[in-house]
Amino acid sequence: MIRIGSINLKTEDNDTKINHNVRTNKLSIANFTVVGILLNEPNNEVISNQLKEFNTYYFEGNCAKLDKYLREYKVKYVLVGINLNNLKSENDVKKYIRYIRKLGKVCRRCKTRIGIMGDEPGEIISMLIFNYRDNLNIKNIKIEDLIESTKVEMYRTRRQRYEYIYDKTCNMLDTEFRTKNLCDFKDNKCLEKRKSNVVCGCCRHYKNLFSNQLVKCKYLKNKKCTAKCISCKLFTCDTLQKKGIKFRVRDFYFLNYYLNPIQKFIVKYSVFTHKNKIIKELMRTSLK
Ligand code: SF4
Ligand code: SF4
Repeated sequence: MIRIGSINLKTEDNDTKINHNVRTNKLSIANFTVVGILLNEPNNEVISNQLKEFNTYYFEGNCAKLDKYLREYKVKYVLVGINLNNLKSENDVKKYIRYIRKLGKVCRRCKTRIGIMGDEPGEIISMLIFNYRDNLNIKNIKIEDLIESTKVEMYRTRRQRYEYIYDKTCNMLDTEFRTKNLCDFKDNKCLEKRKSNVVCGCCRHYKNLFSNQLVKCKYLKNKKCTAKCISCKLFTCDTLQKKGIKFRVRDFYFLNYYLNPIQKFIVKYSVFTHKNKIIKELMRTSLK
């Protein structure tokens, strides 16, 4: 069973789509190459059997070979081909992400685009998914996550790629807090501070290292955070933790698989910090 994975460049939430009809006109008329991600040998066979009608290249992680192929055949567009039968463990996911990032790097260098236009505004068909099933049975991994990895590679600058990862995770956390009403604000007082006079939740800190005076965070304006601080969004107080509400970096696909240990530390502990500063730190500590 083959499915089409699409992303939408105009949205951040719900930006992936799985199309269950693979025979669209787009696929029969577009001039593209399917780059089959080779995680292990049987992958090769499955892709080649099912994709005889397309130009196909099998990518086993060798960037120089892929670079030569794209330039030699003047490839303008590629789709990513992935066989879900070969994604069985977290290690396979790590390998998939490693290859997708390499593919993105080579494509940017060769001015080859990942994806072809879909039918809706902003929609880009980016993947062919072989042996589709609804659930991967790998902890915290959804098929949509794999499709989002192709979206990351469509951004041309490193900063844009980090911003996408960052915003995506913040939006998930915001949705979690909002839809489940986790802090349960009433008359501006959250669950934890209900019996006190504090009306700004936990957006307070000591004035300085030597003071025991608490002051409001400078980013709190009109009862709203203006900093989009991911570390604050990951934080839950003792009251929430006692109710089992806790967010760990490893629970989030992009944070877990895309960040190195130093970067994970940064997103976890940079509370009271503006998004721009955190992104700058992530870029400074990224592996080239
Ligand atoms: S995390 Fe706790 S202290 Fe902070 S706003 Fe929510 S309920 Fe209040
Ligand atoms: S940066 Fe953190 S502490 Fe400051 S306003 Fe935003 S959420 Fe509150």
